[in-house]
Amino acid sequence: MQKGQRAFEHDETVGAALARMTRAFGEAGLDSAAWDARILLQGLLGIDGTALLTKPEQPIGSAADRIADAVQRRLAHEPVSRILGVRSFYGREFIVTPDVLDPRPDTETVVELALEIIKSAGLNDKAVRIADIGTGSGILIATLLAELPLASGVATDVSAAALEVAKRNAERLGVASRANFVATRGLAGCGGAFDLIVSNPPYIPSGEIPGLGPEVREYDPMLALDGGSDGLDVYREIAQEAACTGIAKRLVIEIGAGQVIDVEAVFRSSGWSLVTTKRDLGGHVRAVALEIHL
Ligand code: GLN
Repeated sequence: MQKGQRAFEHDETVGAALARMTRAFGEAGLDSAAWDARILLQGLLGIDGTALLTKPEQPIGSAADRIADAVQRRLAHEPVSRILGVRSFYGREFIVTPDVLDPRPDTETVVELALEIIKSAGLNDKAVRIADIGTGSGILIATLLAELPLASGVATDVSAAALEVAKRNAERLGVASRANFVATRGLAGCGGAFDLIVSNPPYIPSGEIPGLGPEVREYDPMLALDGGSDGLDVYREIAQEAACTGIAKRLVIEIGAGQVIDVEAVFRSSGWSLVTTKRDLGGHVRAVALEIHL
């Protein structure tokens, strides 16, 4: 416990624990104190939001020590999803480990745009093939395969440890039989043609990494964040590889806030043109669709 903070007792009620957690997080300056306290407590007690709010008089019981440990970890800026080991994305639950980027709600924009592009190409009831470059926890490929029951795909990552997580997540969603997981850079060795490539590559300029919040800087894998000196290195690789090999003619990628002009220029110089973009809930252009006529 931090100085001045009482331990959590077995007979402490859920309501009292929630109030105390919210206060501790607020006093520590965490922006989403109330939300973090609720999601952590629900996860640790294995109950849903309704149970949390309608039975505040229940004792926390044997969860007391786990709660105390989780509060300390959150006060040290570890994200809630890493403490619980799971995160919801596009309505489904994904395993999160230290080897993968913590899935962000912003990335749901990529799923939405990818589904729109598939639909507008008249492919949503076809056996489309999708590639996910730098899959990390596998949220993009697994969600798309779950949304498109006839689709199949390949997910790649330079991190074998991340691929293991992606595979487990695909298994949990029941889509693993429609995906291959390949430890490689880009799509090297993946063969075949794809109807769509999706990617949320590392895009943070190296020099900006020291200024990121501790939740990101200290807990997300550097491999998943660092996009080189201008943040655009991996976009250049994807633009060139996909154009040279003709492996796909449609791309939907995630970009960082304010990167749309630079990213479009990178892709244009390899022959791609911008089809459309989509903003995240914060109003930033987050997903970009591109096409190439080969
Ligand atoms: N969206 C992440 C962030 O802003 C970065 C992830 C990435 O580089 N793809 O922290």
